Amino acid sequence: MKRKLNVQTLRHSTAHLMAGAILELWPEAKFGIGPAIESGFYYDFDLPQTISEKDLPLIEKKMKELAEKNLKFEKKTLSIKQAENLFKKLNQPYKLEILEELKKLKNGEKSPQVTIYKLGNFIDLCKGPHLRSTKQIKFFKLTKVAGAYWKGDEKNKMLQRIYGIAFPTQKELNDYLSLLEEAEKRDHRRLGKELDLFSIDEEVGAGLPLWHPKGAMLRQIIEDFWIKEHLKNGYELVKTPHIGNINLWKTSGHWGFYRENMYSPIKIENEEYLLKPMNCPFHIKIYKSKIRSWRDLPIRWAELGTVYRYEKSGVLHGLVRVRGFTQDDAHIICTKEQLNEELDRVIKLTRFILSSFGFKEYNIYLSIRDPKKKKKYVGDDKIWDTAENALEKALIRNKLKYQRDVGEAKFYGPAIDIKIKDVLGREWQCSTLQLDFNLPERFEIYFINKKGKRETPIMLHRALMGSLERFVAVLIEHYNGAFPVWLAPVQVVIIPVGSNHIKPANKLAQELKEQNIRVEVDQLRETVGNKIRKAEKQKIPYMLVIGDKEAKGRYLNIRERGKKQIKKMTRKQFISLLKEQSTV
Ligand SMILES: [Zn+2]
Ligand SMILES: [Zn+2]
Repeated sequence: MKRKLNVQTLRHSTAHLMAGAILELWPEAKFGIGPAIESGFYYDFDLPQTISEKDLPLIEKKMKELAEKNLKFEKKTLSIKQAENLFKKLNQPYKLEILEELKKLKNGEKSPQVTIYKLGNFIDLCKGPHLRSTKQIKFFKLTKVAGAYWKGDEKNKMLQRIYGIAFPTQKELNDYLSLLEEAEKRDHRRLGKELDLFSIDEEVGAGLPLWHPKGAMLRQIIEDFWIKEHLKNGYELVKTPHIGNINLWKTSGHWGFYRENMYSPIKIENEEYLLKPMNCPFHIKIYKSKIRSWRDLPIRWAELGTVYRYEKSGVLHGLVRVRGFTQDDAHIICTKEQLNEELDRVIKLTRFILSSFGFKEYNIYLSIRDPKKKKKYVGDDKIWDTAENALEKALIRNKLKYQRDVGEAKFYGPAIDIKIKDVLGREWQCSTLQLDFNLPERFEIYFINKKGKRETPIMLHRALMGSLERFVAVLIEHYNGAFPVWLAPVQVVIIPVGSNHIKPANKLAQELKEQNIRVEVDQLRETVGNKIRKAEKQKIPYMLVIGDKEAKGRYLNIRERGKKQIKKMTRKQFISLLKEQSTV
């Protein structure tokens, strides 16, 4: 029976093949590591010259030559000492560094051993597994070059990382490559610039986006919708500051458990303050501002709160990874008896919000703690079991398919994490619903129960879109910048044919604005054809060309985004069409 090709093994083996090709082309190359990753594989090299995407075909060609030789992956087991001698001889300092670490790790083993794999002239320190030979490596492509610090540490040398992809069949490779091409076209950084939505300015700082008028409008539309739906669903709004006294963060445990994600303190009159990485402690303080009774619960407090978290400059990416972002945050404080209903309500609202933005498919994860690393988490076993159970039961009650994700819980409790799938089938982590037994205890919050006794309530954290910055990035890529009418920052552009049509065009624009329609007039002295092309590029849903006939007559001349034919409608009809399309 023919064994099915394991894709991860194939990709990792292709990484070795690439390293073999590099060695042929640059015999003095030094090798870092070369794992398979979710979207392919990479290998980090220290090369005598800087390579660029232009060099990839040359490397690919060499890989093909080697693959056709049907080279075997030959495994050998060596003692650490033997391996050290070997990699010293090969002059491979990074491999020696890995060996040094392995030595520490295997300290205590009687005769510590490692495995090496030989492929042609290339010898690697590796656990495997690999394919038997390079014969099975046929359908691959090198996709990009990037810089990567050795061990991900910016104090170390910057190596050159080459990414690639490999598949068992040509068709899968072709499908993937066209997906990649499409994803590149949809890149929110490119579209964000083309559509004039946002920018990131070096002098302002990395990871701190500036929202331009159209981007700010898009966000406002999202925020308004979010607030409206939350008010309908029994939430109240709160607002809290961006910084808080260090003592608050000591009490909350963030200064202890979350410090690496926080920025250095700010000194104000001999006291230290911290930029908030989360909104929770503030909401707790509002709760504590008076005595609460069981009649006050459940409390649902929502805030579009901007938080600041430390991210290394190397991982910052457009709006997806930033240093300051706005969470669509809310905290629910309820009794034990109310927990199940509250969980169901959050799940229902999450599904509604996500589907309103066109996301109907998602993968759901139950993020639980790693029982082997209990030190990373607060709270005892019993409380964790109860909480994990409650979340799991909620998923089952709501008939949601889910996977258990061990070790992905927050330090203060387990969570349900939802990753949405966009039109290209890519996954994005957005919604999260977390149970917390840390903060209620640390801040000693309570309510007076029916018996007149103090009781600790349950606290839920939840964000449905996650970070608004990231969510907007996903929306841009999902819709390829062509937002549905209700989200489009500009819904209509009016194009006057000649200069004598500017006045009636502005008059019409004012008429539409009064109906809350987002409209622009293109007053530049350009041809109509040019203005239409521009509006198409801006992905504006409707274009109205105003000439003599339209300025005086009853009918408007309407061109829809992406469509050639012209529609005729009265102003009244057009306005009611837009109003209908502006509601979710
Ligand atoms: Zn390997
Ligand atoms: Zn929170």
